[in-house]
Amino acid sequence: METSQVSHLTQLLEDAHAVIKYQNSELTSLLESKSQELEELLGNIDQIIWYINSQTLSLQYVNHAINAVFGFTKEDFLTDPTLWQQRIHKDDRLLVRSFFETLIPGASQEICFRIHRANGELCWLNSRIYHNEKLDLFVGITSDITQSKLQSEEIAFLAYYDPLTMLANRSKLKLQLHSRLDHSPLLPFCLIYIDLDNFKNINDTMGHEIGDQILIEVTRRLREMTSDDQLISRFGGDEFVIFLNNSDSVYISDFCIQIGQIFKAPFTINDVPFFLSSSLGISMYPEDARNCEDLIKHADTAMHEAKKNGKNQFVYYHSSMQRAIHNFLHVESLIRDGLTHDYFELYFQPLINAASLTLQGFEALMRLPHPTEGFIGPDTFISVAEKNGDILHIGHIVLQQACDFIELVQRQYTEPFYVAINVSAKQLHQVSFAQELLDYLKIRAIDPSYLKVELTESAVMGNIEIASTQLHTLKDGGVHISLDDFGTGYSSFAYLAQLPISTLKIDKSFIDTVCDIDSHSHIVIAISNLAHVLGMSVTAEGVETEQQFNFLVENHIDTLQGYLLSKPITKEKILYSLTTSTPFFLPEKALVYTI
Ligand code: C2E
Ligand code: CA
Ligand code: CA
Repeated sequence: METSQVSHLTQLLEDAHAVIKYQNSELTSLLESKSQELEELLGNIDQIIWYINSQTLSLQYVNHAINAVFGFTKEDFLTDPTLWQQRIHKDDRLLVRSFFETLIPGASQEICFRIHRANGELCWLNSRIYHNEKLDLFVGITSDITQSKLQSEEIAFLAYYDPLTMLANRSKLKLQLHSRLDHSPLLPFCLIYIDLDNFKNINDTMGHEIGDQILIEVTRRLREMTSDDQLISRFGGDEFVIFLNNSDSVYISDFCIQIGQIFKAPFTINDVPFFLSSSLGISMYPEDARNCEDLIKHADTAMHEAKKNGKNQFVYYHSSMQRAIHNFLHVESLIRDGLTHDYFELYFQPLINAASLTLQGFEALMRLPHPTEGFIGPDTFISVAEKNGDILHIGHIVLQQACDFIELVQRQYTEPFYVAINVSAKQLHQVSFAQELLDYLKIRAIDPSYLKVELTESAVMGNIEIASTQLHTLKDGGVHISLDDFGTGYSSFAYLAQLPISTLKIDKSFIDTVCDIDSHSHIVIAISNLAHVLGMSVTAEGVETEQQFNFLVENHIDTLQGYLLSKPITKEKILYSLTTSTPFFLPEKALVYTI
């Protein structure tokens, strides 16, 4: 190459270099201004934007947002590129490391982990991270999700725990049971359903605050006697369910006895001692059921059986209890049919004056003639109706039909008579019961002396204050009162003398054996004397034989009722007898029945 050529080439190279140099500085300043712009932009957003070396995980870049979240400056992190790792909660470090190890290049993925802020506070972070393989970088955007995490934890807590006692709730127990059944379907276990006896009374009379404190103390005592593999849950109110990882009946019975023991000491709240006991029902897996809903239901059923048997005891579930429930539900549906289709019908059993052997009145007894199920007696449906509240509705029907009957008989029969209706405890304990009854008689224009109310001793003595008010209202309104099934309950003589009762009705069980058992004949005579001393009359029900009849007449029983005289019969039969003067009660020698 010639010298001139070389120098030309050198010149060209120098020019090119100068051009490149010029362009480079232009580019650098362009780049610098762009990166400043970017920095300003990124500096104003809340999320942390960063990238780290994908091999060493050392921090290469981070925006200012890291400041507010970690409590360290951006510069702190850049001077010590591993600082961010040191702030990760120790339990989450492995999680974060394996996240980076498994992150697929080109894809972005999310991770949640905890860090400690500079002041030591725990903080939840959510990062979306991208692996740029070409640049050897992990690039990420991170946000502080502590607030929403806490909220969702609180929601999760409320969803699965009872805030008063901090015990697991029904949902949590079910969750645990489901997982137990999924993972170890062959391992047996049992559930114990606990219901506090008479807790409602304390809650109602002493207020919910005292009730809450008692529940907290019950929880404390239960916790003290249980171990980690026994889950205690609260099912709301005063109901607890314990999951026992055991199916040995000796162990379970011991455990239940221990539960009984923790109720021995009084629950002292504000220096006031409260005495409680508990009723327990036990269901076993897999014998009693194979799914958790049925197991809970069966334990509950057994608990109700414990209540029924007198409370303060434990009862193992048995399939016969389920049958009882089915029966209950069946009768309940028959009652509904009866109410919707007007099937209920009162029958009337004559009450005979023992001295004059004349008709004195009738006891109204309810029947449910069902078109497909046949004739259903009160012994089947009254107890169910009392439990589910339908007795109030049935009670109205009784009153209506009794009034219809009184009107009908009055047209045929001019002598005084009365119709005795049976009233159950639930009706009597309705505050407005007596007044509503009197109001109804007024509307129907029926003289109250035509109606008598039969109440059992237990209905009256069960809530003597309410009963006493109701009885006085009835008496003042002119309605007579008879104490039914007398001798079987626990009447206090002091109350008996004070209550406005006009008749004691001796329970049928004494009459049944009045001629066979000496003590029963003595009781009948004693009740008769007691009634007369207190100015009351006395009725004997269930008179079936002439022997009984003679005994009762001889011993000054005022009124007789029983199959010997007449069974309960329809109003049509009674009206037919009254209009045709046909006797409808026996024995015929006792019949001095005239219109
Ligand atoms: P209760 O009030 O003690 O009624 C007397 C029961 O004895 C009636 O049974 C009656 O039919 C029956 N009885 C009367 N004399 C004899 C007899 O000589 N021998 C025998 N073996 N039984 C006799 P019923 O009608 O089956 O009523 C049973 C119970 O159902 C009644 O007992 C009463 O407690 C209740 N009940 C009936 N109707 C009503 C009602 O309308 N309301 C309420 N709350 N309870 C009712
Ligand atoms: Ca009765
Ligand atoms: Ca009776």
